[in-house]
Amino acid sequence: MMLINQKRIVLIFCLLFTSFVGQSTANLMTVIQIQPISGGYAIIQAQPGSKVLFRERNYAVDEQGFVAIPFGREVAGLHEITLVDRDRTERTEAIWIDTRSYVIQRVNGVDQSRVTPPVSVTDRITAEAVKVNRARSAMSSLQFWREQQFIRPAPGPVSGVYGSQRFYNGIAGSPHWGIDYAAPTGTKVIAPAGGKVVLAEADLYFSGGTIVLDHGGGLTSSFLHLSRLLVKPGDIVEQGAVIGLVGATGRVTGPHLDWRMNLHGERIDAALWLQAQ
Ligand SMILES: [Zn+2]
Repeated sequence: MMLINQKRIVLIFCLLFTSFVGQSTANLMTVIQIQPISGGYAIIQAQPGSKVLFRERNYAVDEQGFVAIPFGREVAGLHEITLVDRDRTERTEAIWIDTRSYVIQRVNGVDQSRVTPPVSVTDRITAEAVKVNRARSAMSSLQFWREQQFIRPAPGPVSGVYGSQRFYNGIAGSPHWGIDYAAPTGTKVIAPAGGKVVLAEADLYFSGGTIVLDHGGGLTSSFLHLSRLLVKPGDIVEQGAVIGLVGATGRVTGPHLDWRMNLHGERIDAALWLQAQ
C-alpha cells in the first residue's frame, strides 16, 4: 500500500512575548528552534540548572544550557511555557501550537493474529511493552540530538506518516507514530544521527526486529520491522552507520522501515525533526 500524505505542514506560528520589568538579572529563555504544531517540539536555551514547565511537566535545562520539549499528537492551541530559575524566579511566555488533522489509513491483509492477538501471547506483549518503554525513556548526556543534522535512515517513498488513525483489517488500532519508508527487505538502515543502542530485539510481537537509539537530551529513535540487526545494546554508533536491514517482521503487510521518535517519553513526528535541522 502506498499512501503519501500530501498535507502541507503549516509552520506559521506566533510567539507572544510577555514583558518583564525590573528583572535586569533575569534568566532569559530563548526559543532556538520550534515546530509549533501537534507532534512538534521546541528547543530552548536557558541557564543550566533552570527548568522549563510545560503542561504540568518539568524539563531540566542541561549542562550546556539546552532542553527540548515535546508537543504530543493532541497538543494544540494556546499554551504557556514557564522558565523556572534556580532561585525560583519564573518567566512565562505564551506559545501557539497549530492543530493538525490526521489521515485515516486502512491496512488490510494483516495476519489476524497480529491484530487481535491470542490470549497465549498477552504476557509476552506486556513484557515487551515494558522493555520498549524503558528504552524509549532513555535520558543521557549525549549531545547528538543537538549537534547533528539528522538524515533519513532509509531510502524509498514515504508510505506512512505520523499520527494517522489506523484500521487493521477493519479494527481500529493505535495511531501510527512513525514515518514509513517503503523499501525492499535487505535495504540498509542507517543511523539518522549518532546514538547509543539502548534496545536491539530480533522479534517483538508487533514491531518485529526493533532497534532503539538514544541520541541524548531525552530524544530516541526507534526502527521497526527489521529483518536483521547489526548492532547490540551498549554500542555507540556514528551517524550514517548501518544498524540493520529493512524487513517485514511484526505487524506488517510488506517490507518497510518504520522510524519513530520519542522526546521525553512523548511521541513526536520524526519528519518535523528531519525537516527543521
Ligand atoms: Zn509503520
